[in-house]
Amino acid sequence: MNLSRSEELFERSQKLIPGGVNSPVRSFGGVGGTPPFFARGEGARVCDVDGNEYVDFLGSWGPLILGHAHPAVVEAVREAAGQGTSFGAPTERELELAELITRAMPWIEMLRLVSSGTEAAMSAIRMARAFTGRAKVIKFNGCYHGHADGLLVKAGSGLATHGVPTSAGVPESYAAETLVAEYNRLESVGALFDANVNRVAAIIVEPVAGNMGVVAPDSGFLEGLRRLADDNGALLIFDEVITGFRVAHGGAQARYGVRPDLTCLGKVIGGGLPVGAYGGRREVMRMAAPLGPAYQAGTLSGNPLAVAAGIACLKVLAEPGTYERLESLSAQAEAGLRAAADSTGAVLTVNRVGSAFTAFFCAGPVTTWDEAADADTERYAAYFHGLLERGVYVAPSQFEAAFVSLAHTADDLAFTAAQVKAALST
Ligand SMILES: *Cc1c(COP(=O)(O)O)cnc(C)c1O
Repeated sequence: MNLSRSEELFERSQKLIPGGVNSPVRSFGGVGGTPPFFARGEGARVCDVDGNEYVDFLGSWGPLILGHAHPAVVEAVREAAGQGTSFGAPTERELELAELITRAMPWIEMLRLVSSGTEAAMSAIRMARAFTGRAKVIKFNGCYHGHADGLLVKAGSGLATHGVPTSAGVPESYAAETLVAEYNRLESVGALFDANVNRVAAIIVEPVAGNMGVVAPDSGFLEGLRRLADDNGALLIFDEVITGFRVAHGGAQARYGVRPDLTCLGKVIGGGLPVGAYGGRREVMRMAAPLGPAYQAGTLSGNPLAVAAGIACLKVLAEPGTYERLESLSAQAEAGLRAAADSTGAVLTVNRVGSAFTAFFCAGPVTTWDEAADADTERYAAYFHGLLERGVYVAPSQFEAAFVSLAHTADDLAFTAAQVKAALST
């Protein structure tokens, strides 16, 4: 595979940009080699600067549920751009996006738009602290909620891939407000509440874990979190930055029927542009300035281009049959993976929830971070490069999700299954 132009660009980028990338997960740190520099994407396919083409399962790490350059999204952005790219004043489109979100997620009674998932999670926690008057937050080992200081504790994928359990630059005094429980282990949450009576503001969880690879909640886990939060006067925050409009139209809260107090959104709701949102119970959201004492702001929050893309995306997703079609494509992707593993004897555990899945290189089951961490990352790296050479792009880390989009065709998935089998055979 010729990557000469990417190699040259990567070389130059590394002199100016730390690691040559603007987000560490892009650097191929977990799998080695030179990351292709992308030039174009259309539908389920991306093309790099050397002219190599790939069937894309990265989907920009989750947002591209419609695939690349979906005509409705491109047209919406083009139209919005012609009308002015930012005002710093209210616009009708922000209201429209808020309405589309709350229609799909009725437990969100009020919400604020921000520009990233990081901002959404950071702000939701601020509101929870303001509302409860408490400081501590329970998060889960292997769950990622963006790179805000207090949330970079045992935060899965990027940090796991790079072997940094907790980021440097976060004061211990601040990290001490973050308590870490084990995903799918309710007793670990109960123990933290017992040791921190009346001090926990909130539990924050990815209702389907995505940043340790895809791990579904065990039956009763989310319900148990709801109960523990209620019993202890804490709020329950679902970080649905990946799962929102992904695992169901109404996100994981609709799929599992568990009500969070606050929800964080990002990725899909921006249609590939920078949008995040946090929202939930009205009385909690009333803590946000200017209604309440908790400050949160953003010069580009609700940006017209970003919001236009989000609206276009959510409108396509609201069409009847969308999630059924996504499910059947995703089931085909899973079946192809399983068949390839069976025929090659590769030891794989495939976890899938809706259109997000992970092939863990271990015997499994994978239900916690410790079990995920058992996966053979060297085998994953070989598999990753085997696929890359054969024109299939998956996340450059074992501890990530692969995403099926509505742009993938049955042919794309059949092609992918054949490449997976070839990659696993070598
Ligand atoms: C990606 C992600 C974030 C952070 O979103 P950014 O837009 O990258 O800041 C937060 N939470 C979860 C669950 C995510 O997957």
